[in-house]
Formats: sequence, structure tokens, C-alpha cells
Amino acid sequence: MFQLKLFFYTFFVTFLFKPIISDNNNTLLIIVSFDGFRYDYIERNLTDNIVNLKSNSSFAPYMNSVFPTKTFPNHFSIATGLYTEVHGVLDNKVYDSSNNKSLGYGYELFHYNDDIVPLWILNERGGGGRRSGCSMWPGSNFEYQGTLPSHFQLYNSSVPWEDRVDTVFGWFKHPDTPINLAMVYFEQPDDICHKFGPNSPEINTEIARVDRIVQYMMQKAEETNLLNKLNFVFLSDHGGQAIEVPGNLINLDSYINKTWYIRDGVPPSLQIYPVKGKEIDVLKTLRAARNEKGANFTAYTQEQMLDRWHYRHCKRTPPILLLADLGYLFLPAENEKQYKITTSEIGTHGYDPVFSTMRAFFMATGPMFKRNFKIDPFENINIYPLAAHMLGLPLPLIAPNGTLSTLQDILVTKTSAADENATTYIVAVIVMIIACIATLLGWLFLRNYLQHKEKLRKSSIASYKILNQGTDEERLYEVRDTQSSDCDDDCDSPT
Ligand code: AMP
Ligand code: ZN
Ligand code: ZN
Repeated sequence: MFQLKLFFYTFFVTFLFKPIISDNNNTLLIIVSFDGFRYDYIERNLTDNIVNLKSNSSFAPYMNSVFPTKTFPNHFSIATGLYTEVHGVLDNKVYDSSNNKSLGYGYELFHYNDDIVPLWILNERGGGGRRSGCSMWPGSNFEYQGTLPSHFQLYNSSVPWEDRVDTVFGWFKHPDTPINLAMVYFEQPDDICHKFGPNSPEINTEIARVDRIVQYMMQKAEETNLLNKLNFVFLSDHGGQAIEVPGNLINLDSYINKTWYIRDGVPPSLQIYPVKGKEIDVLKTLRAARNEKGANFTAYTQEQMLDRWHYRHCKRTPPILLLADLGYLFLPAENEKQYKITTSEIGTHGYDPVFSTMRAFFMATGPMFKRNFKIDPFENINIYPLAAHMLGLPLPLIAPNGTLSTLQDILVTKTSAADENATTYIVAVIVMIIACIATLLGWLFLRNYLQHKEKLRKSSIASYKILNQGTDEERLYEVRDTQSSDCDDDCDSPT
């Protein structure tokens, strides 16, 4: 009976409560972003590893960024599935007119709406042992709804890339709090693109470095036995555009009196807030600069901002957006040092995402992704619903602007790994229940059989007694009596 109890106990603990006590069934996903890695950088014969990996991957010819094609807006769109006008990170720097202050990288920039749930938080709140780790991903070091990712690394460009990867794989293998989702940011090749341009030998060095770190990640996955379990998404936030210097630099001060307006944002897109009483003058002057003086920028009022930018319906949208023409850049004197111009060409981004030089990179490889599968170009807001589906997470109240259907075809099956795990689990439980019932029936059968046999034995003894007119014991005594009377004769006598 004790063995039977032990068997049932083991069964219940191992199978029925497995989802509660185990961390190991969640989909493993790592989203890796290389800042400014333009979609066509892999055509430079510098990225053998990425090109080889592509044949094992689902990929798009390019991925479309959101407007403006800047780092913080796009990383937050990838992380939330929302357009900029919804998440409110309208640029790397945004003017908050209600408080008359400029929001740079910080908590407030990423908290235009407190109900927004970045992917790493959605995963963290998903339960069932799900945990997130973020390495330098813009916006990931702030709380959302009071939650932080289980693990994060603050942005620090001096940390060697290999060390960052080692840290992230350490999170996947953490003995107490292992992660199932990692979001990892690398600042190149964008930083070098700004300084030397997208056609420079310097950027080629960074492109080759990106390729090496991709290879290092695959190697690390193999060493940690994660290669067959981990799903990788390699992507970027935007591309890079060459700017001839000093020819294509625009000094705004030579067109308009700088005391007439407050300026914020990061070139080539500037937020313009005319001071009180100068609203009409500012707009007229900026228009005249283009129409009469041939300036290479356009001033958009809120009504003129393009709907497809999904930029204008936000309390943070400026009354005037100034956007330089492709290949031109505002560079007022105070910014010259920041850009460290030492060459005849520099690089930038921030223009309309329709320009091919603004296009981003996308490639996904791992057990859940189809191999050598090409999909049409898509907007980065579609990553969030895909990732949520893969991770088995319900979408938050602020539903993403992107849709699952855009990218679902790249998945090997249309059910998530969580669904597959659930099916496997249900089948295992049913099999175990059948096994238990069979064991129980077997045991009952055996018990009945033994009881039946015992009854038979007893009834045959009873019959014997009736037939022989005495009990077993009486007969036994009879036998003993007979034996002892025999012994009376010879047993005690030595032979
Ligand atoms: P952008 O010029 O729009 O591509 O901005 C890229 C720059 O943003 C990087 O070179 C960094 O200086 C900065 N940056 C990127 N990630 C972070 C982060 N997590 N925290 C703070 N600054 C960051
Ligand atoms: Zn960027
Ligand atoms: Zn940049």
C-alpha cells in the first residue's frame, strides 16, 4: 500500500504541478539590435557569418523604421509595438511644452503614457518562471508600472561587446533567476557612421565587428547548450545617410532669428515652438527660407505632418516640425564639436523612413523560425505582437499598432511553443491518468483474486472438516497424539 501512495505522490508532483515548479518550458528569445545597421551593409562582403546564417533564417529584404528614424523612438516602437505618436518618444530629445523643459534620455521621456507595457515587462509579468534581461536597450533601465526587468545592464559603450554577451548568456543560465527573454543593444555601426559616414573605411571596420559578435553569440549559444532552444532576432533601428560637409550643413541661424522660437530635437528633425506673438513670423520666415532662399528644409505645421508618420496626434507633437532634406543636416555652431567633423563626409538619420538609406535590417533564426524564408518588408511595430505570441503572452490593454498576421508566416508552426508545451503536457497527464487507472484496476483485480483464492481455501477446509467430522486442529492433535504414542515406544531410546 505504501508503494502505491508513493507512486501517486510522485505522479502528482511531477506532472500536475510541473508548470508551477518548473522554469524550463518557456520559449527562449533574444532580440539583438545593432544601432544604425543599414539593411544593405551585408552586401559589402564583410559579413560572412551573417550571410551564412541568413540561409538558416527568416529574413526581410529590409525593415521599415518609424518616423523619425532615430534611436530612441525606434527602439521604443520595437519594444512596444506602438507608433511614436502613441508612445510619445517623438525623438531622442523632446520638448515638454506643458512643463517648459527638454526631455533627454530619462524616465519622463519614456513615460508619456504610464500604461505602456514594453515587451520585457509584459514577459516579466507573464509569470510561469518568465523573466527578462536587458542589456543597454534604450528605456530598459526604468520601471514601468513599478516593474524592472529581472536583469539589466546600464548603457556603457566602454564595456567590451564579448563581455556583454557573456553577461546575457549568464542570465539565461542563472541558477536562481534564469531569463527567457533578452533584449540586447549595441551602439555600432551608428556611432562611427555619424563621425565618418556610411561609405567610410571606418564604418566597414564596425560592420565586420558586428559580424564577429553575431558569430560569438552563436558560439556562446552552442557552448551553453542553447543553440537548439534559443530563438534569435537580429535587427536594427534605422540606416544611415551620407552628408557632404561642410556643403550640406544648414545653419538655421542664418535664416531665422533664434530668439523667436524654442528649438528642441536632434537634427535632421527639429521641434520648433514659436515664442508668444511670433507664431506667424516664424512660420512665414521658415517658408520663405525654402521658397525664396533655396534652403534645404521643410517646415510642417501639425496639419501638414503626414498621416503615415503617425507622429502628429500626440500632446508632445510640436506646432512646427522642421525637417532637413535627405542628405542635409542642421548643424548650428554649438553642435559642431559634438559631431567631431574631421572628414568631408559624415552620416546621419532621422529622415522619412521611405528613403532607402533609412531602411533597417531584420533576420530571425532559431527553432521557431522557418529557414531560408523571405518575407516582404514590414514596419518594426510588428515585432512586438510576434514576440508576445512566441512567448505565450496576452497583449496588454494598450494594444500594439502592429499585428501578428504581418509576421506570423515566419514561424514554423502557427501555434506558440507555449501552446505546444501545453498540448504535450495535457497528453502526458492523460497518459499518466490512464496508467494510474490501469494500475488501480490491476491492483483491485489482484486483491479480489487473492481474496477469492483465500475464500476457496477456507471453504475447501470447511468441506474437508465436514467430510472428516473434525477441525484441522482436532486432526492435528490427533496426528500429534499418534506421533507421541509412537514415540512412547522408541523416540526417547538412544539408537
Ligand atoms: P542616434 O544618434 O539617434 O542613433 O542615438 C544613438 C546614441 O544614443 C548612442 O550613440 C548613445 O550615445 C545613445 N544611447 C543609446 N542607447 C542608450 C541608452 N540605453 N542609454 C542612454 N543613451 C543611449
Ligand atoms: Zn540608432
Ligand atoms: Zn545615430
